[in-house]
Amino acid sequence: MKPIEDQEILWEIPCCANCGSSRRSRMISSFDYEIPSGMAFHIVCCEDCGLCYTCPRPVMKQLIEYFYPDDYHCYRQAGNAAPPAGLARIFDRRTNEPRYRRLKARFGDCGVSLLDVGCGDASLLKYLQRRTTWKLKGVEPNPRVAAAVRAAGLDVDCGVLEEMGYSGESFDAVTLTHVLEHVEAPGALLREIFRILKPGGILLTETPNMDALDRGVFGRFWWGYHLPRHLWHFTPETLARLAAGAGFTSMGKRFQFTFGPMAWNFSIVVNHGWPGKSLGLRISNASPLLLAAGAPFEAINVLFGRGNLLEMAFEKPVGERLDL
Ligand SMILES: [Zn+2]
Repeated sequence: MKPIEDQEILWEIPCCANCGSSRRSRMISSFDYEIPSGMAFHIVCCEDCGLCYTCPRPVMKQLIEYFYPDDYHCYRQAGNAAPPAGLARIFDRRTNEPRYRRLKARFGDCGVSLLDVGCGDASLLKYLQRRTTWKLKGVEPNPRVAAAVRAAGLDVDCGVLEEMGYSGESFDAVTLTHVLEHVEAPGALLREIFRILKPGGILLTETPNMDALDRGVFGRFWWGYHLPRHLWHFTPETLARLAAGAGFTSMGKRFQFTFGPMAWNFSIVVNHGWPGKSLGLRISNASPLLLAAGAPFEAINVLFGRGNLLEMAFEKPVGERLDL
């Protein structure tokens, strides 16, 4: 593949996914810090409902082809069937155990039919497979990743959910972890999830929080922009509104206390801001030093109810919704 800066990028201008408005104002411009190309990307804010989104954006086909490398961080463990070991085991448990507990609190020890949409390397499904006897399924658009996860023993379909044609009311729970901000049409995805959930079924979402306290501190270096792969930039309010439009009832929000986002912030500043550019410094966002240094800062974010990682749960109501 040619370097990104030599590709001929085709751009499209989306409308707001929440309200369909094309009235927008420029909010911030930033760069791709994962695959540096020198290209600037822009985030706008809908003047009618407040949803922020990347605009213009590369057309979806090129976005997938050019901006998701094979070693993208969500793909790296796809073929690995063995449980994580050492430090990876601690992070795996820290990330997935709370998800498991929230689902268990809802469904108890009953058999649960769960679909993980955009499962990537399926770390959540693998964790639940070791922990439960639930009926687990994933759907992943990247063919190489989907095949590797299948070879590791999981039930994963390749494609996007809207093309799968699953039966209506066939799942108790759907998980969308760090997916909704990547998709072309998040409203359509939520409507399809609503259709395939059983009444009383739940949707668990996780996204970066555009309302995080530290976003103002780090400016264009804030980790959660992740341009151009993040197309939509949610706050609790804009996400709740999008889900309500698909028929869901909000069950509340919480903020994860985790070290990753702050370590990303620091590494982006060091590697791409001053002094990294001047002195040629490079530091990994997986550095234990950065992860430890980030903890107290994320604790402050969470304490003020403005953490980096937003979790929201939604329910498909039992019975028909009456718009009186
Ligand atoms: Zn809008």
